Amino acid sequence: MGFSGRGEMIPNKDSYCEIDTGTVDKWGIPVLKFHFKRSDHEIRQVRHMQETFRGLIDEMGGEPLSAMPGPEDDYGIAPGGVIIHELGVTRMGDSPDTSVLNANCQAHDVKNLFVADAGPFVSQPNKNPTWTILALAMRTSEYIAERANRGELA
Ligand SMILES: Cc1cc2nc3c(=O)[nH]c(=O)nc-3n(C[C@H](O)[C@H](O)[C@H](O)COP(=O)(O)OP(=O)(O)OC[C@H]3O[C@@H](n4cnc5c(N)ncnc54)[C@H](O)[C@@H]3O)c2cc1C
Repeated sequence: MGFSGRGEMIPNKDSYCEIDTGTVDKWGIPVLKFHFKRSDHEIRQVRHMQETFRGLIDEMGGEPLSAMPGPEDDYGIAPGGVIIHELGVTRMGDSPDTSVLNANCQAHDVKNLFVADAGPFVSQPNKNPTWTILALAMRTSEYIAERANRGELA
């Protein structure tokens, strides 16, 4: 029997992207450079998962096949990027100071610019994201149609 834990990564100021001024793609467009750092939130979630899984095995009369990883190994958390759920960057929010989009995935600064993919996510939830991406895109499409029909996006 195997266990695989998933948790939410809480946004932190050390994890962000910026335009890489030194690298362009094959069309000459500057690429993004990502910065990434975990916080105690993620490490503590992993410790809790390890303890919970091992407790379940114990209750069932089993024996874990590996020792509990310690704090020096961040309790066995996977390296960043292994779970490839790409989300965020153009996060939604109430304030243009801390977000790019409003709750309708519309840019705060440009009223006819919408982001209908995983960009509006404000964190990495612990579940697979695609249904939520689709639901947000549908809601944004309805909003665009409604506002465009009223002539409010021109
Ligand atoms: C191997 C793998 C397995 C996954 N499995 C699951 C799963 O089982 N369930 C789940 O919910 N999620 C899964 N995910 C995560 C999910 O696929 C992503 O979170 C989701 O696709 C993100 O959607 P997006 O539209 O924001 O970005 P993307 O799907 O990455 O789309 C971005 C698009 O932009 C294009 N693009 C990039 N740069 C440019 C440019 N300069 N000009 C024009 N176009 C450009 C790219 O070609 C791409 O088509 C998986 C991801 C991977 C990689």
